[in-house]
Amino acid sequence: MSNKPTPSRATLAAQALGWSDEKTRGLVPPIYTSTTYLRDPDGGYRSGRIYTRADNPSFDLPEAMITTLEGGAGSLVYSSGMAAATAVFMNLQPGDHVIAPNIMYWGLRNWLKTSAIEWGLDVDFVDGEDSEAFAKCLRKDQTKIVWIETPANPTWAISDIAAIAEIAHSAGARLAVDSTVATPVLTRPIEHGADIVMHSATKYLNGHSDVLAGTLTTAQSDDFWERLVNRRASAGATLGPFEAWLLVRGMRTLYLRVERACRTAQRLAEHFSGHAKISRVYYPGLPGHPGHDIAARQMTGGFGGMLSVSVEGGMKAAVAVAAKTKLWHRATSLGGVESLIEHRASIEGPDSPVPPDLLRLSVGIEDPDDLIADLEQAL
Ligand SMILES: *Cc1c(COP(=O)(O)O)cnc(C)c1O
Repeated sequence: MSNKPTPSRATLAAQALGWSDEKTRGLVPPIYTSTTYLRDPDGGYRSGRIYTRADNPSFDLPEAMITTLEGGAGSLVYSSGMAAATAVFMNLQPGDHVIAPNIMYWGLRNWLKTSAIEWGLDVDFVDGEDSEAFAKCLRKDQTKIVWIETPANPTWAISDIAAIAEIAHSAGARLAVDSTVATPVLTRPIEHGADIVMHSATKYLNGHSDVLAGTLTTAQSDDFWERLVNRRASAGATLGPFEAWLLVRGMRTLYLRVERACRTAQRLAEHFSGHAKISRVYYPGLPGHPGHDIAARQMTGGFGGMLSVSVEGGMKAAVAVAAKTKLWHRATSLGGVESLIEHRASIEGPDSPVPPDLLRLSVGIEDPDDLIADLEQAL
């Protein structure tokens, strides 16, 4: 199910879909800072643009790029990944039912447990690796969104997109996938039956830790999508034109960065498996990972640039290792060119399901030998 376009996605990304400026022949788009647009003498807007909260020409290219890479029918850029994700839930009505996984991006889990409940949504959390658990929770005509994240922060649990899509559709629900970690390089959820794909573009899509942005891509242009388009314009969680421009610049190197990060992450995972100071390595590219078989089926070209390790000696030992790294930067976030290490339990708080001895590693594009040597000296 690769539906490979000609030219390939890597080529289309590198060339920003072959964009060039009709007037100047420039190959790099300008940044459109104007917040407002001229009306025609008769009061109309034949340009199609009125005001930048609704849309800005700077969004056209990043939205077209992500639509092409994901194989969707349309995309929207948002001011953050959380703005994109919460827009999906705020597109529902009070009383609607939602199913989400226990293991997922903690910020969104917290939002679902607090704001979504206040908004009137009924939210159930299930084991994201267990497709049947979604089926058991499903309420016909009341469940409106089934949300999954794969691989999921920070144990890189794998959800079976095709199986869960079928389950969601059987009750008339939409499947939305947080595909931030997989990126369209490795997984295109729409090819597996997903209805909505969400990215924190802050991570791999931009890739340089200098833009906060989010995206939604839809499989079909329907009423649900039209409401999302109208609500972004009215609620105003819009991206700035500079950020949109940086996002295009970042996406041009997406394939190079992700391929490199995947190769290095696989090497690190294999190197530290069975290491005397490491009790467990969490990486879907290892045959022992519970989601490996599904990942091998729905991911192409690698298993992602994210892995986690449990350190022998518990939480204190894990924090001490993070304190001793010199090349791995102690910082939150992921998907940048620089490698990051983080003790997750201490950032997520007391009701986090994350093991206290776990360190999350976001693999950048540095020399893999340097990254291994730095972790070895820290251990
Ligand atoms: C960072 C992240 C988010 C939130 O995105 P922001 O751009 O920080 O708002 C959501 N999901 C995943 C998987 C993330 O890593």
